[in-house]
Amino acid sequence: MTHRIPVFDGHNDTLLRVRPAENEGGRCFFVESNEGHVDLPRARRGGLAGGVCGICVPRPPDSSGGPAASTGAPAPIDPEYALRVVMTALARACRIEAADSDAFRIVRGAAELERCLADGAFAAVLHLEGAEAIDPELEALWVFHRLGLRSLGITWSRPNVFGHGVPFTFPNSPDTGPGLTEAGVALVRACNELGIAIDCAHLNERGFFDVASRTTAPLIVSHTAAHALCPSPRNLTDSQLDAVAASGGVVGVTFCTAFLRADGRSTPDTPLEEIVRHVEYVAARIGADHVGFGSDFDGATIPRALGSAAGLPLLLDALRSRGFGGEDLAKIASLNWRRVLARAWRGHRPGAHDIMA
Ligand SMILES: [Zn+2]
Repeated sequence: MTHRIPVFDGHNDTLLRVRPAENEGGRCFFVESNEGHVDLPRARRGGLAGGVCGICVPRPPDSSGGPAASTGAPAPIDPEYALRVVMTALARACRIEAADSDAFRIVRGAAELERCLADGAFAAVLHLEGAEAIDPELEALWVFHRLGLRSLGITWSRPNVFGHGVPFTFPNSPDTGPGLTEAGVALVRACNELGIAIDCAHLNERGFFDVASRTTAPLIVSHTAAHALCPSPRNLTDSQLDAVAASGGVVGVTFCTAFLRADGRSTPDTPLEEIVRHVEYVAARIGADHVGFGSDFDGATIPRALGSAAGLPLLLDALRSRGFGGEDLAKIASLNWRRVLARAWRGHRPGAHDIMA
């Protein structure tokens, strides 16, 4: 008999899919659906207590946006368009919270996160997946921070003014281009100072090591897997895994089948054990203190056997059957994320002149 362990997950795309109420042209967060992976009823059934809720900007409907022939990377997007998409998703998050703050809360700090988990409200950490909506002068970063942004991915899998994301070509190394730009380096420093967690998922290898050599916070790669098991450029090499551990950080093992399977295929006909295989690999290499989940719920093709957030107890059972128990399982399910986010959020808060210097 499974006993329920609450899961705090490092990455989902749920804010892009759900609405605060029914009849708003999408599924309602509070109503159970067969579509996608997360709504309140399925989260509660599966023990999903909260997660880092990403806002990823899809390519504009009026653009070709196809991969550039030379690199295979998706084309850059217009920052103004990105800002519009981000505003819509942030407004939805605010309205979901306003509709029922006992059920869903935007968390802005470690104490709030812990209180939320204790109260049984879904704890949502606001995250931008790619910094296109932020201007190089970082004015929007300040505004988003005041609104509750507590996590930022420097890039999605496309280039922007701050850095270069990895394309989805397979198989490939994550070493696909140059590191952070000067604006990217300033962004890292500003996030450290404000207490915004920096997420290196989707960033290329040189960008990752640029973050590693500059950040004062533990390294976070929210939804990824082991390159040694699946040679996707979205996955981490052993030396990247080692760097995450050395910083005291966390790797969220994704449920996205294309980054789990050795053949790189995206198909729901992928056993749950593929997730377990990557968790085992990362835990064996860098320790159970540095592994969590990074489901990519509502953003990826996941194993059918898992199905949705409601299937999380099956994953925990599969991990138990491979010998993960007690404290290690609790760390992987939620404690590691809580520890690392708390450290990243501590930041330090100098005056604006320091940030702009
Ligand atoms: Zn992603």
